[in-house]
Amino acid sequence: MVLRGVFPGRFQPIHWGHVKVIEWALQRLDELVIVVGSAQESHTLSNPFTAGERIEMIRAALEDAGIDRSRVLIVPLADIYMNAVWVRYLAMNVPRFRYAIARNPLVVRLFKECGYEVLIPPPFERGKLSSTNIRKMMLMGSDEWRSLVPPSVAKIIDEIRGVERLREVAGRD
Ligand code: NAD
Repeated sequence: MVLRGVFPGRFQPIHWGHVKVIEWALQRLDELVIVVGSAQESHTLSNPFTAGERIEMIRAALEDAGIDRSRVLIVPLADIYMNAVWVRYLAMNVPRFRYAIARNPLVVRLFKECGYEVLIPPPFERGKLSSTNIRKMMLMGSDEWRSLVPPSVAKIIDEIRGVERLREVAGRD
């Protein structure tokens, strides 16, 4: 059987830290399924981008990093708000896998409870390389976020006017 793992995340947006996790996982596995979680969410402060936009950004990031796309699958998955059965629901929507890649404590816990082995990557400059940090910079009007994401991801965010969207949904009436 193919040595396959799943890597769930919201990727709001994908940044170099996520990319390093993907590279780290592919050094240990044959194939990685990137699960774009909270696929139903968009246009909010913590989830500004649609699942489709996030898939585009992930593909662009893989391209920029020179990662072999034939070893990566990208699957969008809406939340179900029933943590106890989430892993079973995820498993129903992706090819068979043996490993989960995560640092998010809830995600680690849920996979372990279901009997999956969890590979925990190191924190790659976690203080800086974080989507929350990136969204904060966007809101503050700092261009520093551009260095934290692959160039093609920044280009897509510009094309969809992502920063403007984030600022508008943060506004008050
Ligand atoms: P995220 O994009 O913030 O992070 C994805 C993963 O990458 C996490 O494990 C995180 O720790 C890791 N990571 C991020 N930056 C890193 C860095 N610099 N170095 C090393 N690792 C880094 O996404 P998230 O919020 O963790 O996504 C979890 C998804 O699973 C969400 O969509 C959530 O809704 C979903 N979920 C759903 C249910 C449910 O529906 N009941 C239950 C659990 C989780």
